[in-house]
Amino acid sequence: MRYISTRGQAPALNFEDVLLAGLASDGGLYVPENLPRFTVEEIASWAGLPYHELAFRVMRPFVAGSIADADFKRILEETYGVFAHKAVAPLTQLGANEWVLELFQGPTLAFKDFALQLLGRLLDHVLTRRNERVVIMGATSGDTGSAAIEGCKACDNVDIFIMHPHNRVSEVQRRQMTTILGDNIHNIAIEGNFDDCQEMVKASFADQGFLKGTRLVAVNSINWARIMAQIVYYFHAALQLGAPHRSVAFSVPTGNFGDIFAGYLARNMGLPVNQLIVATNRNDILHRFMSGNRYDKDTLHPSLSPSMDIMVSSNFERLLFDLHGRNGAAVSALMDSFKATGKLAVEDERWTEARRLFDSLAVDDEGTCATIAEVHGETGYLLDPHTAIGVKAARECRRSLALPMVILGTAHPVKFPEAVEKAGIGAAPQLPAHLADLFQRAERCTVLPNDLKAVQAFVSQHGNRGKPL
Ligand SMILES: *Cc1c(COP(=O)(O)O)cnc(C)c1O
Repeated sequence: MRYISTRGQAPALNFEDVLLAGLASDGGLYVPENLPRFTVEEIASWAGLPYHELAFRVMRPFVAGSIADADFKRILEETYGVFAHKAVAPLTQLGANEWVLELFQGPTLAFKDFALQLLGRLLDHVLTRRNERVVIMGATSGDTGSAAIEGCKACDNVDIFIMHPHNRVSEVQRRQMTTILGDNIHNIAIEGNFDDCQEMVKASFADQGFLKGTRLVAVNSINWARIMAQIVYYFHAALQLGAPHRSVAFSVPTGNFGDIFAGYLARNMGLPVNQLIVATNRNDILHRFMSGNRYDKDTLHPSLSPSMDIMVSSNFERLLFDLHGRNGAAVSALMDSFKATGKLAVEDERWTEARRLFDSLAVDDEGTCATIAEVHGETGYLLDPHTAIGVKAARECRRSLALPMVILGTAHPVKFPEAVEKAGIGAAPQLPAHLADLFQRAERCTVLPNDLKAVQAFVSQHGNRGKPL
């Protein structure tokens, strides 16, 4: 499989190089040159497969030519073997034809484990073969950091530096990062906010002199491998509920448009999906686009669902590419003008097409808490605030009561106790067994000023198994 850039200028790459690449050299994002398409018979024949075997069938075309079948099978079996639930991504029924897909049974209790457990193992495999070491730098507002650290902690060829805003992530989130000890794991608390952390990652990708030739790899959702891994659970859920003989709807709590973009790809690969709902919090740039063709940058509104607190959605460019008939020059012009003005709108017929593909809703903190309370009252089931936004959007935007509606359960409620408390239901979520002693574990973390030079000096001092590069 070959991958091309959404801006049309960068060279096409194979899977292995896309795995190791950040942004394309023209500033775009990599997407498959041709999407595989499965027949109804093929999809039907996958019913009942264990998760890792389904994953092999769905993702095989994307890694073809880079990872041998036998290696890929073994990697997938290991990856999804670490999940706490035997079903890996179990479905829980909330109401008539209404289901939560629990994507929080992995090591860090959020859906990001699906992609980052795989990414870490794929990197290890490829880097061992190339006899190469890399440095990962990532910024996190909470969930990405712990999932990336858990995914990469066993990779001998990777030193991973994760920056989080000092004192601005929840204690569970911080401890999930800082209690993973290892020479190649480096937690940095930046005296600044999430955007400051993100800016320093971007600046480091743009100017890599401080790395003395060591390659820098991205773990945020601009990395194609993350999107690829997320396609699988759409197939998994739909097959449980009668696909491909029956169509299924999905409601997806969304920030950077990564998770829902994977659902869009699943549909384009032949999965019968009758509805995809973009569910946002008050940071609703995607809802403003879907409902009014206004993709305009706004200020950040901190919310009870912090993993969706974004100003712009980095993966939206991948959709724009398709909406413009895969014309890289058109996307490039749009993104340049967005960079200059902070505003973006598309031609009417393209916007109409986007509305045909997606429904959307924005849900504020009040609506989030009300939904947590409502569902708890109906079923005793406790939702995390991100999943609650998905449930609310599913109930408001649903087109057919006769077809199954699947809400992506993106996190375990124990990660976000504040929202659960505000919902006023008197139930406190408990840590699962494998994290029961989280608050007793030793932590390791370095606090650094909000200063690029200081961060880059720290990376070059510790980037080679904790020693200088
Ligand atoms: C990252 C995250 C999201 C948003 O996912 P995107 O791919 O950025 O849309 C939603 N919920 C939780 C719990 C997350 O960690």
